[in-house]
Amino acid sequence: MKQEIPPTNKPITLDNHWMPFTPNRDFKANPRLMVKASGMYYWSQAGQPILDASAGLFCCAAGHCRPEIAAAISQQAQTLDYVPHFQSAHPTSFTLAEKLATILPSGLDRIFFTNSGSESIDTAIKIAIAYFQAKGQGTRQRFISRERAYHGVNIGGTALGGMTNNRRIYGGVGLAQVAHLRHTWLADNKFTLGQPEQGKELAEDLQRFVTLYGAENIAACVVEPIAGSTGTLVPPKGYLERLREICDQHSILLIFDEVITGFGRTGNAFGTDSFGVKPDMMTLAKALTNGAVPMGAVAVKREIHDTIINHAPAGAMEFFHGYTYSGHPLACAAAHAALDIYQQENLFERAGNLSAYFLTTVFNSLRDLPIITDIRGYGMMASFDLAPAESVGLRGAELQKRLFWAGMHLKTTGDAGIIAPALIAEKSHIDEICQRLRDVIQQF
Ligand code: PMP
Repeated sequence: MKQEIPPTNKPITLDNHWMPFTPNRDFKANPRLMVKASGMYYWSQAGQPILDASAGLFCCAAGHCRPEIAAAISQQAQTLDYVPHFQSAHPTSFTLAEKLATILPSGLDRIFFTNSGSESIDTAIKIAIAYFQAKGQGTRQRFISRERAYHGVNIGGTALGGMTNNRRIYGGVGLAQVAHLRHTWLADNKFTLGQPEQGKELAEDLQRFVTLYGAENIAACVVEPIAGSTGTLVPPKGYLERLREICDQHSILLIFDEVITGFGRTGNAFGTDSFGVKPDMMTLAKALTNGAVPMGAVAVKREIHDTIINHAPAGAMEFFHGYTYSGHPLACAAAHAALDIYQQENLFERAGNLSAYFLTTVFNSLRDLPIITDIRGYGMMASFDLAPAESVGLRGAELQKRLFWAGMHLKTTGDAGIIAPALIAEKSHIDEICQRLRDVIQQF
């Protein structure tokens, strides 16, 4: 592969940048810096091509550095760099919302723009509370989420989250009242590709919380259709349907966090399409702009939007919430270009067609390795668990490092690896990803 690496030999100081979700001391002792990307590859500072097995962080569905997106951002930056969306606006945020509405489930077509998944989740929490206030049901303030969930790092999302390390030390800072459903990973379902048969009854936890707290105190149930950040926990058959039923019975909102599952990852536009269960709100981010500019969104059912809007007196501001960069012109330009690519290249359908090859190749490549304790997957995402070493997470971190030095980028979480290549991946890329994984895992 041709390598055109910009000169990067100038010594750089690593001390000043406090890196997120990173063992800083370990990383800075042995940094892994990327300087360039294109299609399915990054290039390291040393000039080595790094095959990207996780689409960045599930962001770059159409592959890296798409020229169409770069051109759209550049043109926008030279035309209108920034305009506040507080009582002023520019047209592309409206046209983007309109475009999104054409691929979102019918009726979920009122779009609030944010800058990240975390902001989308906290926005959705506020919308749910504002909705019930407007309906005269202000006691509905409690939320139900799930163990092993990841909903970002803002205070609302931290409260909803079910990854213990993300919550443990923040419990005292006024997190929203949240009860957690049990997660849906069951030992009986090990080595299942696609939706497991067992586990639908876990949805009854929601009914138990309704009985315990009273439906009149519960605003919403928030789940990822597939729990992504804790290693592709695919919902058992019937589980999401049952959550929907219980929510309907008690007028509880169902919110799908589709930050990872959105934009083709499950083989359809959204997880809601793949599983046939429709939420009342959806949170989006990541592949919305193909990762090129930070952007998130909340897709809201029309009735929820209208209730909040119509509750306020004419001329008054209806919803006290927003970000300086909501609907940022550069993000809108990137999202427009990304959605156009997804449509022109039929990427969601492509992902659906490629899924069977992807999942079986992952499964067949890793199944017989004794260190692998589970493999699961759906659409274009799959995860495997490594038997932990002395302390949980060490082996996963070690795997990520070794893969990098072997020329591959993989997202790991604890001792799980998450394979989620760009949706433009060819079968040969999938073969290469799985072969490299096998080679490196065998060295453990
Ligand atoms: N929700 C889900 C389901 C996510 O996977 C993530 C990010 N991995 C977030 C929310 C938070 O997104 P961000 O990092 O953009 O704030």
